[in-house]
Amino acid sequence: MLQECARLFAFTGPYWKMGLLALAFMLLHTLATGAQLALIKPVLDRLSEKKAQVALTTHPKQGITPVQNPLEGFTTGAESELLNKQVLDTSDENPLEELQEEIKNSLPGGSKLQELRAWIIGLTGSYRGIGLLAIAIAPVIFVSNYFQNYLKHFIIWKVYVDISNRLCQSLLPQSLSFFDDRKSGELMSRVVNDLMVTQVGLLVLFGDVVLQPLRFLLGLALAMYFSMKLFLLTLLALPFFLFPIVFFGKKIRRHGEATLERMARITEALREMLSGIRTVKAYKMEDEESKEFQEINKEFFRKRMKVTKAVILSESTNEGLYAVGLGLMVIIGGYVISTGDVGLGELGGFIAATTLTFRSTKLLSRSYSKLQECLAGAGRIFEILDQEPQVKDHPQAVELKGMERDITFKQVSSAYNSIEVLRDIDLTVKKGQVVAIAGESGSGKSTLINLIPRFYEPTQGTIEIDGQDIRYVKKDSLLDQIAIVTQQTFLFNRSIAENIRYGKRNASLKEIEEAARAAYIHDFVTELPKGYDTEVGELGVRLSGGQRQRIAIARAFLKNTPILILDEATSALDSESEKGVQEALFNLMKGKTTFIVAHRLATVRNCDKIIVLKDGRIVETGTHEELVEKGGEYLRLYQAQIEGEPA
Ligand code: ADP
Ligand code: MG
Repeated sequence: MLQECARLFAFTGPYWKMGLLALAFMLLHTLATGAQLALIKPVLDRLSEKKAQVALTTHPKQGITPVQNPLEGFTTGAESELLNKQVLDTSDENPLEELQEEIKNSLPGGSKLQELRAWIIGLTGSYRGIGLLAIAIAPVIFVSNYFQNYLKHFIIWKVYVDISNRLCQSLLPQSLSFFDDRKSGELMSRVVNDLMVTQVGLLVLFGDVVLQPLRFLLGLALAMYFSMKLFLLTLLALPFFLFPIVFFGKKIRRHGEATLERMARITEALREMLSGIRTVKAYKMEDEESKEFQEINKEFFRKRMKVTKAVILSESTNEGLYAVGLGLMVIIGGYVISTGDVGLGELGGFIAATTLTFRSTKLLSRSYSKLQECLAGAGRIFEILDQEPQVKDHPQAVELKGMERDITFKQVSSAYNSIEVLRDIDLTVKKGQVVAIAGESGSGKSTLINLIPRFYEPTQGTIEIDGQDIRYVKKDSLLDQIAIVTQQTFLFNRSIAENIRYGKRNASLKEIEEAARAAYIHDFVTELPKGYDTEVGELGVRLSGGQRQRIAIARAFLKNTPILILDEATSALDSESEKGVQEALFNLMKGKTTFIVAHRLATVRNCDKIIVLKDGRIVETGTHEELVEKGGEYLRLYQAQIEGEPA
C-alpha cells in the first residue's frame, strides 16, 4: 500500500516547486487563522484580571451584578458564569479605556514605540479593536486561502491529465490479443471512472495527508509534555482508535474495487448498446436492454453502498470511541487529581492535547477511507500502466529495408488462448506474386495473414522475409512494408484528406489526389462542396460502403508498400460497388506481393497461386485450373459458390 501511495505521489514530482508554494500558503493560512483566534486571548486575560481587581477594590459596596458578558460565544457556559460573577456594573465608566491607560502606565519610559505597543495591546481590549485587527488579517486569509487551493487543484488536475495521457500511451502499443481479451468499454472506464476516483481521493488527501498526521503527533507530543503517566495511558488507548481505521480501510478498498468493476460494466453495456443501436431497434430490444442495464446498475448500487457502509461505520466507531474516551478521561482525571499525582493545570493541558490527538484520528480515519477508495482506482490504473506490450522489438532487432526475394512461412502454428487454429503452415510467396487464400469461414485465413504484420505471434515456426525472421525485425520497419485493406474499413472523424493521409503522414495534397484517382474516388470527392476537406462525420451514412472502401484503398496506395494484404476487402459490398472497388484493387496490386482473401473465388481465378485452408491446415496448393482439375476441397468450395450465385 505504501508503495502504491508513493507511486501515486510520484506523479506530482514534476510540480514539486508548486507543491512547496502550496504548502507555504497552507502554513500562512493556518497562521493567519490562528492569529485571528489568538485575538480572543488577550481580552480574556486582561478583562478577567482587570475586572476582578475592579470588583474587589474600587466598588466594594455595589455588590456583584451580572452584566452582559463581552466574551459570550468565546467561553463555555461555566466560564461565562464565573466571569459574570466577577464583573461589576461599571456603566458610568469605560473599563477598556481605563485598561489601556493602565497598561500605558505600567510600561517603563514613555517612548513612541511603547505607546504604540500599549495602543495595540489596548486595542485588543475593545470590541472595535478586536474587530479591526480581525479585519486587518482578512486579506491575508483571502490570499493564502485562494493560493493554497488554487495550487493544490492545479497540481492534482495536472496529475490527472498526466496519468490520462500515460494510460493512452500504455494502451496503444498493446497487441491485438490484449484488446481481444478486454472489452473496450471496460478499458474506457479505467481511463475515465477509475482515474476520476483516484483524482477525487488525491484532492481530499492533499490537504489532510500532511496536516492530520502533524496534528496527531503534535497532540501526542503535548500530552507527553503535560504528563508522562497520562500520556502512557493514552498510548494504551490508541490501538482502539487505529484498529477500526485499518479494519474498515481494507473493506473500503475491496468494495471500492468491486464498485469500479461494476462501473466498468456499465460503461461497456452502454457502449455496446449504443454501437448496436440499429440492431436493438430492429429487433425491438429496447425494453430488454433497458432491463439488463437496470440490473447492472442495481449491482453497482449494492457494491457502492458497501463502500459507503464501511466508510460511515469507520467514522461512527471512531465517534463512539471518542465519547468513551472522554468519559474515561474524566474518571481517570478525577482519580489522579484526588491522589495528587497530577496537577490541575497538567490535567487541563493534557485533556486539550489528547482531544487534539483523537480529533485528528477521526479526520485521519476519513482521509484513510478516501485513500483506500483512491487506491482502488489507482491499483486498476497501475495494472494498465504496468502492462508490457506482448509484441515488442527484440533488443537486437534489425531494420527491414524492403522486400527483394520472398516471404516464407516455416512450420507455422498459431493459437488464440491456447486453442490452436493454424497448424504446420509451409508457404513461400515470391516477390510480385499474388497468392490467394481460400477456405471456409473460420478455417484460419485471417489468422494466417495477420501473422505477417505481427498482429499476433505464431506459437510455433517462423515467418521470414528475404530469409530474415520477422521476430528480429523492428516492428515499425516491418509495418512500413505492408499495406492492409480489410472488410471493415475504419474512417476517422476527420477530413477525407486526413483519412487518406493516414497512409503517409507527410503526403502532399497532390499525392493524395493521385492516390484517390488510382482508387477511383477522386471524382466523388471533388464533387463534394468542401472536396478533400469534407469531414467524414459530416457525410455520415451518405458515404457508401464502396466509397469508404475506396478511401481505404487510396490510403494503401499512398503508403505504396511492397507487400499488400487484402482480407475480404470487397465482402461487404454489393456486386455493383464491388466491381468498382475490384478495379481499384487491381490497380493497387500492380507489382506488389499480395496476399488476398476473397469471399468470391471467381475474383481470384487469375492468381499465381491459391492455397486452400481447412481447419487450420493447408490442404491444397495450385493454380485455379490445377485445383479445379484436382477436384478436391477447392472445387467443392468453388461449385458451392457458383450454385449459390444468381445466374
Ligand atoms: P477466417 O478468416 O478463415 O474466417 P479466422 O482466421 O478469422 O478464420 O478464424 C479462425 C479461427 O480462430 C476461428 O475458429 C475463429 O473463431 C478463431 N478466432 C479468430 N480470431 C480470434 C480471436 N481474436 N480470438 C479468439 N479466437 C479467434
Ligand atoms: Mg476472416
